[in-house]
Amino acid sequence: MKLILLGAAGSGKGTLAKKITRDFNIPQLSMGDMLRDIASSGSELGKKIADYQKRGALVPSDIVSDVIKERLSQSDCTNGYILDGFPRSLEQAEILKGITEVDAVISVELPFEELEKRLVSRRTCPKCGDIDNTEYEGFTGNCRVCQTPLFQRDDDKPEAIKARLEVYKNNVTPLINFYSDRLFTVSSKGSPDETYRPVKTFLDDLGA
Ligand code: AMP
Repeated sequence: MKLILLGAAGSGKGTLAKKITRDFNIPQLSMGDMLRDIASSGSELGKKIADYQKRGALVPSDIVSDVIKERLSQSDCTNGYILDGFPRSLEQAEILKGITEVDAVISVELPFEELEKRLVSRRTCPKCGDIDNTEYEGFTGNCRVCQTPLFQRDDDKPEAIKARLEVYKNNVTPLINFYSDRLFTVSSKGSPDETYRPVKTFLDDLGA
């Protein structure tokens, strides 16, 4: 089953992906994470990527295209995958079409004011990538999974958040039309489990 997950930063897209991975046994390919890994390597390419990421701007499509091609060629992708954060523009959707067709596109939707609110209070674990929120009950500042002190990503700071949400609106909205024949839309206003329930039913029926 080859899926694309669309959703702005803070929409709960990553949490949803983890549930799909668990139940359908396909890997989550997070473009943001893959790019951050390269950025933290300190290579010339990494420095270039880090500069785009810090500003909340899109990394150029030729770089992203190489990253996704390499990842899709790995053996854990043979039964399918969840593309998380790719494609993020029509140009990237065309690149993907040249590589493979996908079975379905799931769009996770939340009003922008709510996204902004969730993002400024989001904290990330530098070690395992788990995400917590200062507004959640029981927040301690340490990772719930591995107890490492959490940090605020540079692009979760208010200036970058506005840029990211704007970029998202401009680039991803056309994708909703591009994939209209295979689109499933879900609101993430409720809890993660409430968001997942209709998605699971849809994917069970899809059975690809
Ligand atoms: P994310 O973790 O998905 O919020 O992505 C963080 C940052 O990585 C974005 O603000 C972009 O700078 C970069 N990025 C992630 N996915 C893509 C993509 N498909 N195309 C270009 N840049 C991307």
